[in-house]
Amino acid sequence: VDPSVKEDMKKLEDTFTGISKRFRLINRIGEGTFSTVYKAEDILYDQYQNDWDSEDSLDEKNWRVSKKRRLGDNVTQKVSSNGMPKKKPRYVALKKIYVTSSPLRIQNELELLHDLRGNSSVCPLITAFRHQDQVVAVLPYFPHTDFRIQYRTFLVRDMRHYFRSLFMALAFVHKHGILHRDIKPTNFLYNPELKRGVLVDFGLAERQGSDYTGPCLCTNPAQVRQMRLQSSYYTNQPAHQQHGYPKNDPRPARRANRAGTRGFRAPEVLFKCTSQTTKIDMWSAGVILLTLLGRRFPFFNSADDVEALVEMASIFGVRRMKYAASLHGQIFETNIPTIGERGYGWEKLVIWSSCVEDLTASEQQGIRLLSGLMELNPNKRLSAKEALAHEFFTNPIE
Ligand code: ADP
Ligand code: MG
Repeated sequence: VDPSVKEDMKKLEDTFTGISKRFRLINRIGEGTFSTVYKAEDILYDQYQNDWDSEDSLDEKNWRVSKKRRLGDNVTQKVSSNGMPKKKPRYVALKKIYVTSSPLRIQNELELLHDLRGNSSVCPLITAFRHQDQVVAVLPYFPHTDFRIQYRTFLVRDMRHYFRSLFMALAFVHKHGILHRDIKPTNFLYNPELKRGVLVDFGLAERQGSDYTGPCLCTNPAQVRQMRLQSSYYTNQPAHQQHGYPKNDPRPARRANRAGTRGFRAPEVLFKCTSQTTKIDMWSAGVILLTLLGRRFPFFNSADDVEALVEMASIFGVRRMKYAASLHGQIFETNIPTIGERGYGWEKLVIWSSCVEDLTASEQQGIRLLSGLMELNPNKRLSAKEALAHEFFTNPIE
């Protein structure tokens, strides 16, 4: 372990009263914008009851409650030299949430995790501790492989396992009316041996509808949308349209939730849709699939939302971008010469990106799933449940 990491772990042990009585910190495994995550051993795991796995965490069957332990069957336990029952070490992930996060945000994350407990594809919350302004969430440690190491060698067969597991997690989360909002490889811990993963990081998650700032045009049927667009009721356009970027625009700025990670934001997030749905997670899942098929990570590299729209437009073309914008009462204009009217198909794009001659039949099947996920219109985009029923899973071409 790196000396600076050791020092960091010691600081946590020293400042967080009582933490070292229960956990032995082993290493630092994640450092993000909102938290630092440590791997630790829970040295008291035997002395309290929890509905999580009681055997090796790598063992799929025991990820959930072990029946044997629930019944208190300790008889078969091995005895070590000092006469004490020999326990397998129990590893946990300690997520230290930065004090700069608002208490509401922290409460939201813990509450949603609590609501989502009991499904094996969502990493359960064991417990959480607070010491003064510091909060530590305790999760079972889930062994996984770093996406940056796996993505280049992933075969379509592997993608099938990866996405089946991810969509099962999303179907469960979405059924609860919850948007994850930050679907990306580092928030889906995938274990290639188990052929499954768990969803983590509900730091940006929210209940659908909780941040609606008025109904977006996209919630209307196409006919109504067309009518309202023409009357510029929603587009809020100045009476005489100006060319170029309007100066001293009197229109109020539209506010919409844009939480998420650059490169993974759905078009409706970029177009400031005020009625965002669980479909935004499906777009992000599509970006992961595009990364795998195109063997390029990160696939999108925009620094801000406008650049992200330019990247999107280079793929979809101006015509479809205008349509996508109009769904949310927005206007898409560009004079960038490299952005064509019609854009490109996914197949061509993946061939360029991965530098291959052509695609196999199974890759083409992956492309068909991709186009259902990276659909600009959220109403037409596949839901997690629909994605699981896609031929990619039900009728796989090997
Ligand atoms: P952040 O809000 O800082 O992104 P996350 O919850 O995404 O926090 O955790 C950051 C990283 O820590 C993850 O990408 C993963 O590598 C690691 N991690 C988080 N939870 C676990 C867990 N239960 N088991 C193993 N590693 C974990
Ligand atoms: Mg994260």
